[in-house]
Amino acid sequence: MDREAKLLQRLRNVRELLSEHEVDGILVSEGHNRRWLSGFEGSYGWLLVTVEKALLGTDFRYWEQAQVQAPHFELVKLTKNRSQNDLVLDGQVRDIALEAQSVSIGEFNKLQELADINWVLCDDLIEGLRAVKDAGELQRIRAAAAITDGAMACVKNFAQIGMTEAALAWKLEKHMREAGADGLAFPVHVASGPNSALPHHASGERAIQSGEILLIDMGATFDGYASDLTRTFYIGREIEPRFKEIFDIVLQAHDEAIRKIKPGLKGSEIDGVARELIGRAGFADHFGHGLGHGVGLQTHEKPRLSNTRADTLLSPAMVTTVEPGIYLPGYGGVRIEDLVVVTELGADLLSNCAIEPLLELE
Ligand code: ZN
Ligand code: ZN
Repeated sequence: MDREAKLLQRLRNVRELLSEHEVDGILVSEGHNRRWLSGFEGSYGWLLVTVEKALLGTDFRYWEQAQVQAPHFELVKLTKNRSQNDLVLDGQVRDIALEAQSVSIGEFNKLQELADINWVLCDDLIEGLRAVKDAGELQRIRAAAAITDGAMACVKNFAQIGMTEAALAWKLEKHMREAGADGLAFPVHVASGPNSALPHHASGERAIQSGEILLIDMGATFDGYASDLTRTFYIGREIEPRFKEIFDIVLQAHDEAIRKIKPGLKGSEIDGVARELIGRAGFADHFGHGLGHGVGLQTHEKPRLSNTRADTLLSPAMVTTVEPGIYLPGYGGVRIEDLVVVTELGADLLSNCAIEPLLELE
């Protein structure tokens, strides 16, 4: 399917959902949703989609870009005297879905001035559609994953004893950019020693040392689509028993969860597979985050493999990470993260990176 046909299909799919949500239209303010639905990649704009109309409001900075990129939308120029409220009035409908997570309080107050509009707060209308990827999206995610795999394979060449976390993070970032990434999905996360017990530690000035853990979590973007990959190493000549114990449990949870993925199961059920295994080994309190998250235009999107977030039924062409972890405060943590696509029968790996815990450095 060419780009224009694909965008038209997305517009049709969104329109089909309007009646389900009991609205006549949706005002799209979230940037990734705007891009996915209209094709417009600029950083400012509002979409209003009704059964009859598809309007894209943006300002003079993006006018030409919007004309080229959003073939199915009628453009509305927003100026000092013409705001998103005017765009909404152009839609000529009354009950409109609003993306509660992405509208600021200031914007919300302004929209409230439209006394005749009935706003229906809604967050997952477009996000739900975005969870299922088309062939072009899968191709981009695969490309982003291949770049990340390539960088992870260089860790054994790039890392040195005494090098700071931040210096290694920069080498990996540079490598991904030179390999064709158009950006990073998130800052490269290099955590050494006890820092690896902090799931979202920022790479800092701590030096990499022998006899310690090194955890690396990174993702590239390729044509806007993200990847996400984590590997954990033990630096030394031989792996110490405590590391081996938790590494083996995490690896087993990772493998078992991937093996269980198939369409029709809930995200929470897959999370449960890994959580139960880690719990049985006595580390229930040390796996404090969800098993995985969808990846696409955003690094964290639907579906969620989680026991606390809104649940999603898995279906073919959904992309998700699988990333169990065990974190021991003061010692360190192990996380193994791969990216998979749900297939008719199970799941295929999109990341393709060896899982080798021992890292011998000079
Ligand atoms: Zn990650
Ligand atoms: Zn992740």
